Amino acid sequence: MGIVVQKFGGTSVADSKKIKNVANAVIKEYKNGNQVVVVVSAMGHSTDYLINLAGEITQKPDNREMDMLISSGEQVSMALLAMAIHEAGYPAVSLLASQVGILTESVHNRARIIDVKTEKLEKHLSENKIIVVAGFQGITKEGEITTLGRGGSDTSAVALAVALKADRCDIYTDVRAVYTADPRYVPKASRLEQVSYIEMLELARVGANVLHPRSVETANQFNVPMRVRSSFYLDDPGTLIIGVEDMEIYRPVNGVAADKSQVRIAILKVPDQPGIAARIFGALSKNNISVDMIIQSLEEDNANNIAFTVDETDLNSTLSILEEVRMNLGAKEIVVDNDIAKISIVGAGMIDRPGIAASMFEALAEQNINIKMIATSEIKISCLVEKERAHEAVRALHSKFELDDENAEADKVKL
Ligand code: ASP
Ligand code: MG
Repeated sequence: MGIVVQKFGGTSVADSKKIKNVANAVIKEYKNGNQVVVVVSAMGHSTDYLINLAGEITQKPDNREMDMLISSGEQVSMALLAMAIHEAGYPAVSLLASQVGILTESVHNRARIIDVKTEKLEKHLSENKIIVVAGFQGITKEGEITTLGRGGSDTSAVALAVALKADRCDIYTDVRAVYTADPRYVPKASRLEQVSYIEMLELARVGANVLHPRSVETANQFNVPMRVRSSFYLDDPGTLIIGVEDMEIYRPVNGVAADKSQVRIAILKVPDQPGIAARIFGALSKNNISVDMIIQSLEEDNANNIAFTVDETDLNSTLSILEEVRMNLGAKEIVVDNDIAKISIVGAGMIDRPGIAASMFEALAEQNINIKMIATSEIKISCLVEKERAHEAVRALHSKFELDDENAEADKVKL
């Protein structure tokens, strides 16, 4: 007995048959005596479809209109799910974020949630209704519709769980659990029964693609137990995401991931003076471009080369900003390398355990894979390698850190 938030992603609600299947999963929780709040994503790839449509009209869609457009996908799936629950004989009501009162900052396309009103939710729950909420969207205090960034329904779910003090937040998806690597190219990937928020957050950031990073950040901040599980195998407990203090740490590395969506940009022969890095990265941050790995090396003649990575979607804006900075600084040239992938190992167990980085480099060397750049944090080490060797690199690291599951079942293959 308690409040349970369940979130279903696009693949789980991709067609009417799957929506009926989701209705069953929701009703199962409800029949167990729980109060159930469901968050849905848009059906299948409908958000991509809407974005493409906008692209056929204009290359520079207005941010506000983009939110008006792409927030509509979730309105469709929430209404259909409520109908499917009715059809099965149970009470349900669907609500848009504006009707619930999911307040966000006044930023389009990547707004953060500021507050979630609970009055309306509590009223419906007290009337024993199942509530279906549109994920991914919010409303500003001025009444404008916003969206939370791609994949943001996970964050909607966690925010609702926090506001309602839910006992659980279950994220239903098309894989059975979180794995030590992507099973699509690492057949021996093993299932994680538990993973800590900080590890999951790093894994989400380095391209594991299971959860929206902000959902994990919020769950961590408010200590909401989150579970990743399959909407097609309802009895499978999936993976529990909890605080590191509640976890048993028995190995240094818990996951290996590849991110193939970054590009490396180098600005060559910038003067070796104080304030130069501040000017380059200040200009980028003012334009909301987040920079990932950075490396600076000393060239001859008091000049440095500075290289860094950004997401490929930010490439064009980065280059135009950088060109201006380059001219002002009198730097020689800007060089772009598209042929990169960032390979990362993540594990809370690497804290205070020396030699992990060395083992990583060794594993790559054994495969004759060249490292183009290195970055480390407390629980993560990332290397840039050639794009086409990315998967091979991940498999080599997966074995090196003894994550291979020789009996890996076929269950992990995407449904
Ligand atoms: N429908 C949105 C997207 O495709 C939000 C989500 O799926 O979480 O990004
Ligand atoms: Mg998603």
